[in-house]
Amino acid sequence: MYTVTDPATGELIEQVPNATDEEVLAAIDRVHRGYGSWRQRSVAERAAIVARAADLFAERTDELAAIMTLEMGKRINEGRGEIGIVVDIFRYYAERGPDLLKDEPVAIKGGRAVITKGPIGPLLGVMPWNFPCYQVARFVAPNLVLGNTILLKHASICPRSAVAIEDILREAGVPENVYVNVFASSRQIPSVLADPRIQGVSLTGSEQAGISVAVEAGRNLKKSVLELGGSDPLILLDSDDLDESVNVIATARMRNCGQSCNSPKRMIVMAEIYDEFVDRLTKRVADFYQPGDPADPATKLPPLASVAAADEVAAQVEKAVRQGATLRTGGRRIGPGAYLEATVLTDVTREMDAFYEEIFGPVVVVFKAETEAEAIELANDSPFGLGASVFGTDPERSRRVADQIEAGMVYLNSAGGSQADLPFGGIKRSGIGRELGPAGIEEFMNKKSIRL
Ligand code: NAP
Repeated sequence: MYTVTDPATGELIEQVPNATDEEVLAAIDRVHRGYGSWRQRSVAERAAIVARAADLFAERTDELAAIMTLEMGKRINEGRGEIGIVVDIFRYYAERGPDLLKDEPVAIKGGRAVITKGPIGPLLGVMPWNFPCYQVARFVAPNLVLGNTILLKHASICPRSAVAIEDILREAGVPENVYVNVFASSRQIPSVLADPRIQGVSLTGSEQAGISVAVEAGRNLKKSVLELGGSDPLILLDSDDLDESVNVIATARMRNCGQSCNSPKRMIVMAEIYDEFVDRLTKRVADFYQPGDPADPATKLPPLASVAAADEVAAQVEKAVRQGATLRTGGRRIGPGAYLEATVLTDVTREMDAFYEEIFGPVVVVFKAETEAEAIELANDSPFGLGASVFGTDPERSRRVADQIEAGMVYLNSAGGSQADLPFGGIKRSGIGRELGPAGIEEFMNKKSIRL
């Protein structure tokens, strides 16, 4: 069942039944049939439709933001910001796509060749609830321009976002068999991946979901792109304005109520400024105590996406404290909605689960490093490798540290975030492949070598 529950109140709003197996098969058939004609259209024609989608997303910003606020508790202004990036992504691929898909001549021994860049066929997308529109945009915009068709399974708490996205694409001119939303359950995914008409899958979500999908994709020899969890380190080397650093870092961690895959989650602070940093951060984080209505732009602490998510994060904090971590502030669940006080933990050691787990909520964990080498070692001692940040006053030193971090992305003097033209993705258990930028259109591309 796809279910809308207001996380601010716990009120059940709507339930949508899962698709039957027959409906899932019919949806696969549609994207298969749609592929035949979509791939024949010119790149310019497909790009023009994607450009129209960008305009429609922009026009419907308030409506989409309100849906996300209701479904997963996102603060209304953050929802508007999310749609801003969605618009950028659709525009980026509409404008750059035709260039990125041009034939590439190559000089070869004894002759000439050209590499053409075409689609591979119908794809499955499996998407999460934390950025209901942005995650879909990253996958859909480049693949529509490229000529692939898409079957989309959204998170089961986001059926209204799923329908709104499909409506916008339809109105923009995406034919009805080219983008198809399906309310499939995760149990139906293996049969979708076993279907010979589906050529690949992109999943954004948890490690466990990534493993399941990758196993099924592998069993059926299908390409998979996985955008999974992260426990991004942020190294604070020094600062000429500690209040400002604390402000930027706390704000980045609390974005989306701490439910961003690439927000900084482990702050690694040099010993000289550690005590002062922790004191100021603890005071700053108390600003995120007062629970409020996420539809009210003045609210600082919105609910998490669901009561289950809030309970899980609260349990992680409780376990960390039981295992010996110091709770500097916060940590209390606030009901009846899915609220959790913003939390600061210190003294987390390698023996504790919190050292290696992703904590997907408003929780800051701070570590002390005596040396630059220790900071890098702490940053890299993680099963994940999504993003990382380095803050410091000496650009050369920051760059030197950045070069040694095991991550798919490093931000200097900024934290988290994403932009249409910069590739996004991780290494280690954070995933496989890239979205956004030029790399994002290449994942499900047939780079065909034609020897002339
Ligand atoms: P999730 O529980 O893994 O769900 C993501 C999607 O996968 C949902 O549509 C879900 O369907 C589906 N799913 C779950 N188990 C599945 C299975 N065994 N087989 C096939 N599909 C399955 O993740 P989430 O809780 O929504 O998202 C949070 C996680 O996503 C965090 O770990 C976060 O770091 C990560 N994330 C990563 C990125 C990135 O770019 N690297 C971006 C955003 C989020 P149901 O809803 O029906 O269960």
